[in-house]
Amino acid sequence: MGAALPTRDLAAWIMAQRPPRPTALDPFKPQAFFLEEPEAGSGRSVSSAAILLTNKECPWRCLMCDLWKNTTTQTVPPGAIPRQIEHALSQFPSRPEQIKLYNSGSFFDPAAIPPADYPAIARLVGFARRVVVESHPRLVGEKALRFRDLLSGSLEVAMGLETVHPRVLPRLNKKFDLTHFSRAAAFLRGHGISVRAFVLVKPPFLDEAEGVEWAVKSAAFALSCGATVVSLIPTRPGNGALEQLMASGQFSPPRLSSLEKALQFALELPGDGRIFADTWNLEQFSHCPACLEKRRKRLHAMNLAQQFVPAVNCQACGEA
Ligand code: SF4
Ligand SMILES: [Zn+2]
Repeated sequence: MGAALPTRDLAAWIMAQRPPRPTALDPFKPQAFFLEEPEAGSGRSVSSAAILLTNKECPWRCLMCDLWKNTTTQTVPPGAIPRQIEHALSQFPSRPEQIKLYNSGSFFDPAAIPPADYPAIARLVGFARRVVVESHPRLVGEKALRFRDLLSGSLEVAMGLETVHPRVLPRLNKKFDLTHFSRAAAFLRGHGISVRAFVLVKPPFLDEAEGVEWAVKSAAFALSCGATVVSLIPTRPGNGALEQLMASGQFSPPRLSSLEKALQFALELPGDGRIFADTWNLEQFSHCPACLEKRRKRLHAMNLAQQFVPAVNCQACGEA
């Protein structure tokens, strides 16, 4: 591991690497909304949609995070979040069984999602059998129970575990340790709320093989904490800090084949937790146009079937 990262005031260094903030965002419009590929459920597939909400920036400054680009510097006005959801729902051709309300931060951060808006939000998504929100483990608590009680369907909370690597996790500046994660997961499960975990494939400071190995170890830890879904996220540059680490040789994005391997090995873990690979924007991890689409299809097929699908053997790049 290199030593270019400052050991003190890492947040200030991360902030200093940022490219300019995009121009002001409309607080009444979501960042994006879309129907997703059906998600494997317990025994059958589930229709799913995501609404990416516009709200105040997350208070943490994680090393690999560029989600601040989709956020505002001030709390959005009361009623703005329900308006965003209404806007998205009015354009969906159908009502999915599962809806993700992802907010580039923590749903339970009151500066991001005003708690006074919870009842209106819950009413709007009353059609969904499951609502998924995201949260930093340290913000999991009473607000989750309040929101759960307002929903017609069930609640799932997605938390970024990122990695269990003992030297990498502290350097991501997440400001939590594995005990925070396991306690938050136990709290949620103890109150009838499902747990989903985000795990990074090849965070900074790891080589390709370690990136796969630690993604699988991290998925195993999440499952041992009772997560019913683990989402494997290939680490993407874009926030300035990762570009600096690329320049100093401490980070490179994972190869597409590494994401495939991480999914394949994580699917072999014991238990009935579901494992998904994040397939958004896969082009940036591909080095070979000849096999990109085949690899994308393979990942989609493994996500849906939750089992091994034969590997792509590409004659053009020679990668399996
Ligand atoms: S807690 Fe999540 S949203 Fe906030 S900075 Fe870290 S990775 Fe980004
Ligand atoms: Zn190829």
